Amino acid sequence: NWLDISRFDVTSVVRELSDVLGKTFERDIRVHAGNTSVYMRGDKEKIRQLLLILIDNALKYSKEPIDVRIRNQKNGIKLEVTDYGIGVSEADIPHMFQRFYRVDEARHRTTGGSGLGLSIAKKIIDVHEGSVEVYSKPGNGTTVSIQLPRKI
Ligand code: ATP
Repeated sequence: NWLDISRFDVTSVVRELSDVLGKTFERDIRVHAGNTSVYMRGDKEKIRQLLLILIDNALKYSKEPIDVRIRNQKNGIKLEVTDYGIGVSEADIPHMFQRFYRVDEARHRTTGGSGLGLSIAKKIIDVHEGSVEVYSKPGNGTTVSIQLPRKI
C-alpha cells in the first residue's frame, strides 16, 4: 500500500528534523513543543516529508530564524511553521498548493525549486484527513498551519 500507518510521537519527528535541517543549512529553527509527547496514528515518513517541505520553504523564503510549533488540541494536532520572510500576497495564497505554481517567477531564479513541494504537502494532509491554512503578509512572513486528526 501507499500508506504505512503506525503510532508515533510527532514531537520527536519535529525535533529530529529541525535539528538536522538547522545544522545542514546553518539556520536557527526554533521548536515550540512543550514537554509532553504528541502521539498520532498516521504515516510517519509522510508526516516527516510534509514537515520537510514546509520547513524548507520557510528557510528558502526568509533569512531570519523560523518557528515550528506543535500543539495538542481537543480534536487533534496542530502543526505550524512560521517564517519572517518575503510572504505571499492574498491573491497567490489560493494557488500555492497547485502543482508547478510559483509566485513571481523572477523572484525564484536564485532559489530554484519546481513548485511541486506544496502540492505534495497537500496530498499528505489530505490522506491524513487534515486541513491547512496559510496566513501571510508580503514583507512580513508566512505561517502555514496544519490540523491533523489523531488517527486515520
Ligand atoms: P519546490 O517544489 O522545490 O518546493 P517551490 O518552493 O517553488 O519549489 P512549493 O513549495 O510548491 O514550490 O511552493 C509554491 C510557491 O509558493 C513557491 O514558489 C513560493 O512562491 C510560494 N511559497 C511557498 N512557501 C512560501 C513561504 N514560506 N514564503 C513565501 N512564499 C512561499
